[in-house]
Amino acid sequence: MLAKKCIVCDKSAYLKRVIELGFHPLADTFVKKTQLLNSQKFYPLNCLLCTNCGHFQNEYFVSGEERYIESNYSYTSSNSESAMKHWNEFCETVSAYIKLDSLDHVIEFGSNDGYLISQFQKKGAKVTGIDPSPIMTKVAQKSGLNAIQGFVNYSTIAKAVKKQGKAKIICGNNVLNHIENLNDAMKAIKSGLRNNSYFVVEVPSLKDTIEKYLFDMIFHEHISTFSLKSIDYLLRKHGLYITKVEDIPYHGGSLRVFSSTKKSDYNRTIVEEHITKEEKVNIFNTDTYKKFMAKIIKDKNDLLATLYSLKKTGKKIVAVGAGARSNTLLNFYRLDNTVLEFVTDASKHKMGKFTPGSNIEIKDDNSLFSENIDVVLITAWNIGRYLTEKIRKINDKIEFIVPGEKELM
Ligand SMILES: [Zn+2]
Repeated sequence: MLAKKCIVCDKSAYLKRVIELGFHPLADTFVKKTQLLNSQKFYPLNCLLCTNCGHFQNEYFVSGEERYIESNYSYTSSNSESAMKHWNEFCETVSAYIKLDSLDHVIEFGSNDGYLISQFQKKGAKVTGIDPSPIMTKVAQKSGLNAIQGFVNYSTIAKAVKKQGKAKIICGNNVLNHIENLNDAMKAIKSGLRNNSYFVVEVPSLKDTIEKYLFDMIFHEHISTFSLKSIDYLLRKHGLYITKVEDIPYHGGSLRVFSSTKKSDYNRTIVEEHITKEEKVNIFNTDTYKKFMAKIIKDKNDLLATLYSLKKTGKKIVAVGAGARSNTLLNFYRLDNTVLEFVTDASKHKMGKFTPGSNIEIKDDNSLFSENIDVVLITAWNIGRYLTEKIRKINDKIEFIVPGEKELM
């Protein structure tokens, strides 16, 4: 479905198409060996900037049902040490800022395998996780957590409230940016919050995505990329007021936004400071995106020239990291199993499957050492530093290539 209006401010006249990445399969859907000969669905991946509220969104939406229920969605919260460390830090920071006691209820939407809510449960709070994936909901329930399968809407929030009361905190990390009907979801969230309560979200930041050329943060599952300007607009529209903002390095740069149901808590100074920073790097100006497109096309051509020349000399090249963003990169660069021998990933759910569109086999990290590898393409730049150090300790002859010369984290 093509977007007819901005999903934050509902206006259509201000939408400008600023990014064109061609056709892509769903980035978080991996292909089984038996499905390799079947045709795969590709959808246009273009993005729009709303010059009214500063929101950045996809132009074409794939339905939520298709993205998370029909597909074999395979992201897990606890699939890496760095992710678990992040969720532990999130729980510590949030519970230090918002005091919780045993009567308090914390609802997380997009709770995945339940890792984060299990941390809030350890703090003594009552918890509920809401997630659209039937597989992930079962994983959470098997660990003894209270988990509801579904999208964040009136029905799932009402179920959570009926069982454990209205929430002191509702949180959703890297989830709000996956939601197509944002205003409906916000109304449902507001209905589940009690008086003097908080909504805390983490979303990839538009400023970081554009400044650092993180074009691989764009895929169909990421319907939106928020600026602080657009998230402030959205929250105020639903009676939530920003009290605190943190710039965090997660996903290459994210905004952690705390908002309160109390209007008098609104921290206008913090909000204005952040919007000024965003304006300084021109993310609300369409010309910025022309430069962005020119740079990522140049990076693509440079990297392909390097990889093809290495391949000609018989070098064995693999990629590290089969996350959703790797798939945007592989498909935009038109890299497939004729160039890359395999791709490694830490998630056991992906083992033996193939990357969508590019059909590259996914193996575990040990394959990097058991097979003779010459070159490693780091597609998981978000954990690249950790990976390169780990690989170097075992085989210091491997050459590393980072697409777009991104700074490894
Ligand atoms: Zn807008």
